[in-house]
Amino acid sequence: MRLALRRVVPLVLLVAVASALGCGSARPQPVELRASTPRGPLDLRPPPGLGPIELGLGPTAPARAAADPAWAEILAEGGVDSGEVTFTFDDGPAEEPWLTPEVLRLLGEHHVRGAFFLTGSRLEGRDRLAEARREVARRIAREGHLLGNHALDHRDLSRERRGAAWIRREIERSAELIEATTGVAPRWFRPPYGKLGPTAEALLRARAEELVLWTIDGQDVTESDPDRLAQRICGQLQFAGQGVVLLHDLRPSSVQALGIVLQWLDRHPRDPALGTGFRIVDLPTFLAHAAARPHAEGRAELYQARLALMPRPRAPLRGEGGRASAATREASSAREAPEAPDARGEPEPR
Ligand SMILES: [Zn+2]
Repeated sequence: MRLALRRVVPLVLLVAVASALGCGSARPQPVELRASTPRGPLDLRPPPGLGPIELGLGPTAPARAAADPAWAEILAEGGVDSGEVTFTFDDGPAEEPWLTPEVLRLLGEHHVRGAFFLTGSRLEGRDRLAEARREVARRIAREGHLLGNHALDHRDLSRERRGAAWIRREIERSAELIEATTGVAPRWFRPPYGKLGPTAEALLRARAEELVLWTIDGQDVTESDPDRLAQRICGQLQFAGQGVVLLHDLRPSSVQALGIVLQWLDRHPRDPALGTGFRIVDLPTFLAHAAARPHAEGRAELYQARLALMPRPRAPLRGEGGRASAATREASSAREAPEAPDARGEPEPR
């Protein structure tokens, strides 16, 4: 099964919601997708055994998540009404030696444990910059953050015609480089572009690597304005109520946006009684709570839940004739159905 992601809630809608709400808005109003069956209140305490994690070797979500794209997609939504947010950073360590350390500084300042999905080839090389990147990777582990594998060369692993040996090398060589550099064998895997083919899936299953996807994406690889980027991320969080934030520690704008979002989350702490606000958790906690209270039992059900959230089109006003107004056009583009569960899309930079 090929995985084409991420149209969590249609992007057009999210951007509209984000710009309407903004990071500075007073009160977050989480929107529940819906639980498939009535469940009791969510216990926000970490489950037994989910204590402090040493260098990414802590417990993780159930084995069902290992290389099951549909289940990974559901887990990325978070637990129903959890208000939980977890931060993930892809493609690093950055070429610029100060960027990833600046992310680490911000996370440390806010007592947040992030998950870094490293591109293995960035840890290769004999020059001074390569050694600096390896040192950054070691520092990520030393400071208690989690390490994940983002494949060797950031290629699309669903391209079966490249052959099984190539796909295996992309996954295994990258894991080896991360372990050789940091002493930590990565146990989480995030496919470049969110795409996997049957060969990669089977290999990840055999390696018992857990697939991690995302739901909150401010498109930081193309958006250079940190305020706009932060506003999108906060808006998506308000819309979804919780989620896995995707960022790339490659661009100064992403790092600045991270600082803005962390401050905004500090101003909107979780109130369990009211069910408002947010709580930042590490990735294993997020996944474990999501597995305990998933938003849906299957991909089709999740798709239907998203569809139910789509805004209804406004009826054309008298006199508008056949020509749609700008507002109507906007509304109709926003209500385009989200990508069907098995639809195949072109990759976007991830
Ligand atoms: Zn990537």
